Amino acid sequence: MTLTTSKITNSEVFDRVESQVRSYSRSFPKTFGKAQGATIFDKSGKAYTDFLAGCSTLNYGHNDPDLKAALIDYISADGITHGLDMFTEAKENFLETFERLILKPRGMDYKLQFTGPTGANAVEAAMKLARKVTGRNSIIAFTNGFHGVTLGALAATGNSGHRQGANTPLSGVTRAAYDGYFGADIDTADMLDQQLSDPSSGFDAPAAFIVETVQGEGGLNAASAEWLLKIRAIARRHGALFIVDDIQAGCGRTGSFFSFEGMGLDPDIITMAKSLSGMGLPFALTLMKPRLDIWKPAEHNGTFRGNNHAFVTAAAAIQKFWSDGKFEAELAEKSTYLGERLDAIAEAHDLGRRGRGMMQGINAGTGAVAEAICRSCFRSGLIIETSGAHGEIVKILSPLTIDKQQFAAGLDIVENAFEEVLGTQRAAAE
Ligand code: PLP
Repeated sequence: MTLTTSKITNSEVFDRVESQVRSYSRSFPKTFGKAQGATIFDKSGKAYTDFLAGCSTLNYGHNDPDLKAALIDYISADGITHGLDMFTEAKENFLETFERLILKPRGMDYKLQFTGPTGANAVEAAMKLARKVTGRNSIIAFTNGFHGVTLGALAATGNSGHRQGANTPLSGVTRAAYDGYFGADIDTADMLDQQLSDPSSGFDAPAAFIVETVQGEGGLNAASAEWLLKIRAIARRHGALFIVDDIQAGCGRTGSFFSFEGMGLDPDIITMAKSLSGMGLPFALTLMKPRLDIWKPAEHNGTFRGNNHAFVTAAAAIQKFWSDGKFEAELAEKSTYLGERLDAIAEAHDLGRRGRGMMQGINAGTGAVAEAICRSCFRSGLIIETSGAHGEIVKILSPLTIDKQQFAAGLDIVENAFEEVLGTQRAAAE
């Protein structure tokens, strides 16, 4: 994610009228009009392959024909667009679909809270609820974690570029080291356990731990199942709830619907947003174990907690992609292919691969190099972004539905860009 403020657009109205807080448009200074699948078209009709996918909001691609048809049918039949949090047929269908195809087959028992439609709002609800349930204040969040930019969530976010925008104390969060933060030889889970067990460590008893299984914005650091299980056990031992923020890593991005499947993790609270609606419509959820649902009516409120269009497309997406194991099998195959392609690039330039599933990338060494690689990709018709503390990771987040040919062609562009940028650097050094 770039946070620079260079002035590069091809349409003056953006510079003239829109706040300079905008960011992605600086990396991709074109005006886009249409999109289909993994392809997005600028105003002149030039096609780009999308390896950003709305930062994992378009896991099923742009304008999936079945999701689009479900939404058009619903709108054409005058289905309710806005209903606050009233019962609607669209919500009923979504809840039944989510229960039947997501929760039940995985043996998961959760209540669903519809929060305001952004990821940050789901995180705010999760943090508030943990504090309400435990009567404690401190939330343990991890180095390089990203949880959103509203004040509560921002306190849990590590990145100083985002934090400095608050201009007010960001409180109520204690920072702990993520898996591998101090290198392979230091077990950060043991460290945290020791700090929480020592009455003189200065750590307040925590209400919750909040963790991403793969840190999307923080550099594609993937925690091991072993570390996550240990962290989960430590949370439990110290009376804290365990929150998995699955906003970026969920909805199939790591290969399964939830990013922690198969690990035996059993979070107390799960946050979801981004690809949940399946079509890029704003929609967020906080899932909680039923015993934690102690909210009073309207205690965490919001006008847009019932995006009925999103209920329709989310239910259609779950029905289409998650009613059998076919999509997951495809993801496993694509993830292996992605890993192999990235290993080859990393090996050629003596670099490291990061992440897992369809959420992988390469540490290009510095932010400047990663940015140059992404710029080169864009010139070649590929939209791709950086991640990490210094923006040093070139991050591949293609739609999960991308066909193999387009995926391969996009990865060819990435490979050539690494060669162009790092090969030039090597030649200059010789
Ligand atoms: N949590 C994670 C893991 C995220 O990746 C993000 C956004 O990138 C958020 C929370 C915040 O979501 P939103 O930008 O919709 O507020």
